[in-house]
Amino acid sequence: MYKNPLIQSIGSPTFANAGISADTLRLDLIHPEISGNKWYKLKYHLERAVASGKKGMLSFGGAYSNHLVAMAFACREKTIPCAAVIRGEEPPVYGPSLQQMSDYGMELHFVSREEYKQKEQLTARFANDYYIVPEGGAGIEGIKGASEIMQFPGNDHYTHILCSVGTGTTMAGIINGSQKNQKVIGISSLKVNDPVNNELISYIKEFSNSNNYEILFNYHFGGYAKKRTELISFMNRLYREESIPVDFVYTGKLFYAAYDLTTKNYFPVGSRLLIIHSGGLQGNRSLEKGTLIF
Ligand SMILES: *Cc1c(COP(=O)(O)O)cnc(C)c1O
Repeated sequence: MYKNPLIQSIGSPTFANAGISADTLRLDLIHPEISGNKWYKLKYHLERAVASGKKGMLSFGGAYSNHLVAMAFACREKTIPCAAVIRGEEPPVYGPSLQQMSDYGMELHFVSREEYKQKEQLTARFANDYYIVPEGGAGIEGIKGASEIMQFPGNDHYTHILCSVGTGTTMAGIINGSQKNQKVIGISSLKVNDPVNNELISYIKEFSNSNNYEILFNYHFGGYAKKRTELISFMNRLYREESIPVDFVYTGKLFYAAYDLTTKNYFPVGSRLLIIHSGGLQGNRSLEKGTLIF
């Protein structure tokens, strides 16, 4: 059988005891700077930016945005001028993500949280000069790029595909790139007020071509970028046992959910899981030193 070099099988008895198997697709290994799903999500935005004939590309995000760091790097590689609107006042000292964006040549426009909410006005201000990439690399281009995550020979081996969910762009792409008899399970990093009716569900419904999926909202550990001791201990254990480093915002919750669901017999015997490691390890830089063993 063809073996994708980014696929690692997980030896933990947790899976074997439940009569299932689990592999992970290590997109974190694609590149040290722009690891993971962000690369896929940007691919078609980059093409469209070039085709637009505009001066460059611009996107939005917070001071810790993995998406903006990836975009800054990708634009430098392709010599496309790029800019970003950053939520919040300019800090006197840049954190590592802002520093990277700036080092890669991204022009940074800091706006207040109030101004940031006026996305339409901000877009209008920049749209003449820049091809605009929605926050998080969302939209049809991002989804099309993310669907290529599942394009490798032998992908039909898996019965369940598990991924982390922020905007849902990656998940929509994975649904579109999966086979109809596979089930895609998204683990939301964000806390929502209504797990049945929310923007994320509408977005996935609108842009995916199949209903072979489920989004789980009970593994957010308090919400976006919130952390709990239990999650950190799990992350250290996963690294110790399987040499898989994960981040506390997205993939830590994803792997935690995969183990937890397995223990609770969520997957039928004989299931073959593929856990998409979407990268994002640089997010761990904001943790206090010594918190993680990797
Ligand atoms: C950005 C990010 C996600 C979320 O991707 P969406 O397409 O916005 O849902 C998941 N995992 C990691 C590691 C990320 O950096």
